[in-house]
This record gives sequence, C-alpha cells and structure tokens, in this order.
Amino acid sequence: MGTTPEVVICGAGAAGLTLAIELARRGVAFRLVEQREHPFHGSRGKGIQPRSQEVFEDMGILDRLFAVGGPYPVSRIHRADGSSMDTAVVEGAPATPAEPYRQPLMVPQFLTEAVMRDRLAELGHQVEFGHGLIGFEQDANGVTVRLATPTGEQTLQARYLVGADGGRSFVRQALDIGFPGKTLGVRAVVADIVLKGLPRDAWHSFNEDDMARRISLCPLMGTALFQLQAPVPLDGDVDLSVDGLADMVRMRTGRDDLAVLDVCWASAYRMNARLADRYRDGRVFLIGDAAHTHPPTGGQGLNTSAQDAYNLGWKLAAVLKGAPQALLDTYEEERRPIAASMLGLATTLLAQAQRGDNRRGRDVQQLDLAYPESSLTLPADARSGRIAPGSRAPDAPLQGAGGQRVRLFDVLRGTHWTLLGYACDRSNAPSRAGLRVHVIGPAGDLHDVEGHFVEAYGVQPGEWLLIRPDGYVAAVVDTSRIEILEGHFGHYSSR
Ligand SMILES: Cc1cc2nc3c(=O)[nH]c(=O)nc-3n(C[C@H](O)[C@H](O)[C@H](O)COP(=O)(O)OP(=O)(O)OC[C@H]3O[C@@H](n4cnc5c(N)ncnc54)[C@H](O)[C@@H]3O)c2cc1C
Repeated sequence: MGTTPEVVICGAGAAGLTLAIELARRGVAFRLVEQREHPFHGSRGKGIQPRSQEVFEDMGILDRLFAVGGPYPVSRIHRADGSSMDTAVVEGAPATPAEPYRQPLMVPQFLTEAVMRDRLAELGHQVEFGHGLIGFEQDANGVTVRLATPTGEQTLQARYLVGADGGRSFVRQALDIGFPGKTLGVRAVVADIVLKGLPRDAWHSFNEDDMARRISLCPLMGTALFQLQAPVPLDGDVDLSVDGLADMVRMRTGRDDLAVLDVCWASAYRMNARLADRYRDGRVFLIGDAAHTHPPTGGQGLNTSAQDAYNLGWKLAAVLKGAPQALLDTYEEERRPIAASMLGLATTLLAQAQRGDNRRGRDVQQLDLAYPESSLTLPADARSGRIAPGSRAPDAPLQGAGGQRVRLFDVLRGTHWTLLGYACDRSNAPSRAGLRVHVIGPAGDLHDVEGHFVEAYGVQPGEWLLIRPDGYVAAVVDTSRIEILEGHFGHYSSR
C-alpha cells in the first residue's frame, strides 16, 4: 500500500476490481481506492454472461464463481387464474468445443465482488475502503490525486488515473466529459428479500402484461434471498421497508401465503441509457458505468464494465513497461462502439419486456463481440472461410505432444501474446519476450487430434495466428508474410 503507484483506480465495483486484478497479474504498482467504508452488499447485476465467464477463467476466478453461484432457474409466469407456465430464461444451447460456456451463470454482484477481492488478496493487494477521490490534476508527466481518508487528506502522484466510479462518476464530471442519452421513463424497485412461501426452483413473475402491477421474484443463487424487481410510478415515495415490500408482494401477487421476513438491500432507481462522449482525457480513463449506464434488461452492465477493465488492463501495463502510447488509444476505439451497441440492445430488450416478452438471444452472451475495425487488428488478406481478424479466439480441445489433453484456452491463459502456427516450421517464428509460440500439427508441440482447432479457426497449413493477451485474434497470415506479424507485435508490445 505504501508504494508509489503507477495507476490510481477510483472505485472498487466490478470494473475497478477487474482492472486491479489485471494490473496485479502484470506486476504494476497501483492503488484501488473506494469511498465506501465497507463493500456494497446489494445483488444488482446477477448474470455472468458466457464471454465474461471466459474472461473470468483467464483471471483465475471462474471456478470459484461457479462454486458460489448457480444456473438460472426456469421462468415461471403466474396467471391470474392461479395457473402457471414455465419457460427457459435463456435459449438452450449446449457447450461446444469452441464455446465451452453457453449459459449465463447467476451470481449476485456482492458475491462476484467478494470473489474478486479474494483473488486480489492472493495477488498481494487490497481495496482501500473509506478513501474517496476528491480532486485531481494532470500534466504531461502524471496525475496528482487528492483523497479524503479516515486519517485526513492524502495527496498521491501516479502516472495514470482510472475512473471506475460508477454512473455518477466524479472523475467524468471533473473532466467535463458529456454523458448524453436519455432517461427511459421507467422507474423500478430492486430489493434483496427473505421471502417465505415461494419455491426456489423458478424465477417467478406475476402480472407480466401489466406494467403497473408487475412483480418478479428471483431466487438468488448462493444465498437464501430472492431478488424482487418491480416497476413503480415515476414520481412519489416508495416504501422500501419490510412492511412496504410485504404489501407490494401481497398486492401484486394476490397471494396471502407469501411473507417478506427481511429486506437486506433495496433501491428505487430510474433507468437511463447514456454514453460518455470520450473514454479518455490525457492520463485519465473512464471504465464501466462511469462510461456508460443502461437498463438492467439483458444483464449487460456488469459484464460490459468488467470487459472494459479487461481491455484496458493489459494495455496500461504494456505502456507502463515501454509499449507505445498509441496502444492506449485503442481502448476507447474498441470499447466505446461496444457500449453503444450494448445500450441499443438493453433498451430494445427493455421495450420488449414492457410488452411481456423476456426472451433473450445469443446477442446478450457477448461471444460475438469483436474488434474488426481496431488499429490493433491487421486486416485479413482475401481468402475466405477463416476466422476474421478482430474476432474472439475460440477454444479447442487439443493434445500435447506428450499425449496429455490440453485446451487451447489453457495455452492462451496468462498475460502473454500467443503466436499459433498451423503445420508451420517453428524456426520461422519470431522470438520475443512476452510472445509465446506454439505449433499445432503432427510435428508440432500441440496436436489437433479431433480437428476442433481447424474447424473453429479455418486455418490452412502454413498459416500463423497472432492472439492478443485478452483473447482476440490480432492477425492471420501465411508464413510468407510472417515479418508483417513481427512488426505488428513489435509495435504494440513492451520493449
Ligand atoms: C439498482 C441497480 C440494479 C442493477 N441491476 C443489474 C442487472 O440486473 N444486471 C446487470 O448486468 N447490471 C445491473 N446493474 C448494473 C451493474 O450493477 C453495473 O453495471 C455495475 O455495478 C458497474 O460496475 P462499476 O464497477 O462500473 O460501477 P459500480 O458498481 O457503481 O462501482 C463504482 C464504485 O465507485 C465508488 N466511488 C464512486 N465515487 C467515488 C469516489 N469519488 N472515490 C472513490 N470511490 C468512489 C462507488 O462507491 C462504487 O463502489 C444494476 C445497477 C443498479 C444501480
């Protein structure tokens, strides 16, 4: 804690914690400051989408999240006549060799953040609670940050400041970065309650087609709680006490056999869809809800926030170790368009939900998010059928040359870039610090025994794939163009 930080992260929600883990994995000195005295205890974002599961696998927390959370139960629509109908919340899709996670995982946000704090502790860091950012100034060399702490005001010097400080971001407002968008004319209650009388095998909904009386009660995996969600009038007080929520449950479900025994957390909030005009001002960055806020429909908020941090983390670490500043420009270039489309998706899903349609498609899973236009992506040459540069790198079960089973994700996991040659001569590959080289093929160190690698990547013998530390394909080239790859990697990696 006492060391001079290279980065100050303001806010220890899902975005700030993810960034902290990414910097800690790379040995960057940072401080993670949080104005709250204690961790936030509300369930809020509870769905971890398949792409985030892959990201969390790389960060070393996925198995723990599976252990504390669980699968989504069926959706049970209760009708006025007392009958009910069960449907799947998520369109069923089995895991494949290329996509090992295809179902959202339910983990209340306070448990996800607790798992992240544990991982951070393993890496030798912790959140500094009770430390609020109250001011900052930047110049060409760094950022001076002022903190209010339990022992008085503290001043810190750092190379970069990251605002991971949520929808009302102090950092964004201090930089006078516009946050255009709209309030969506929907106000809702979300609450974590102890509820007696409903089985925990389903996500219960009542009055689906009536916005004024709708209520949903979802068992929160990993807890004995239910998450209550209900639209409420735009104006006026909402009674969030045990008695107030008990009345709401009774009136909206029409059931006297349900009892609200306790309210652990409750909030009445207005839904917004807003996107920051810029994600960067000199040495200061915005990530997560500080850069974009959205309705909770489709469970995109936490996922997009964590993936912002995952994108920025390796780039900040590389630049601090000597990679060119241009790498940092690719953060906004890549992530702002993703947030823009995610805002459109969440708003469309909200409109559908208002009509009683809660179906979710593949787009909420975030597996198809890609960076084809990024300056980090080397455009493909003309051959079709292969994986498009900028795409997510799929998984593939392989066999090591010694006969052991190995997943491609095992090979990619870590902080390095990866160069994969398919039936290539290894001696053609560049040799550089931070670049791991594998050759897949009969004479290589990895064998594609079942053909899953070729199926997922569509590569030809003699082709090389360059994969970024965050698991996206930066380039696909033939051996005759390998020097292009070397130049590309050399330009964006640390010296
Ligand atoms: C009521 C509600 C319900 C939601 N439901 C869902 C859902 O169902 N699904 C979903 O995916 N998402 C949901 N979300 C959104 C999801 O919770 C957010 O997208 C996610 O928390 C964003 O993470 P973050 O780290 O960017 O911001 P936050 O989680 O807001 O964390 C920001 C942190 O910064 C701290 N901070 C603020 N200012 C300062 C300062 N000056 N100094 C130091 N620290 C500071 C705050 O105390 C906070 O801990 C919901 C959000 C709300 C509010």
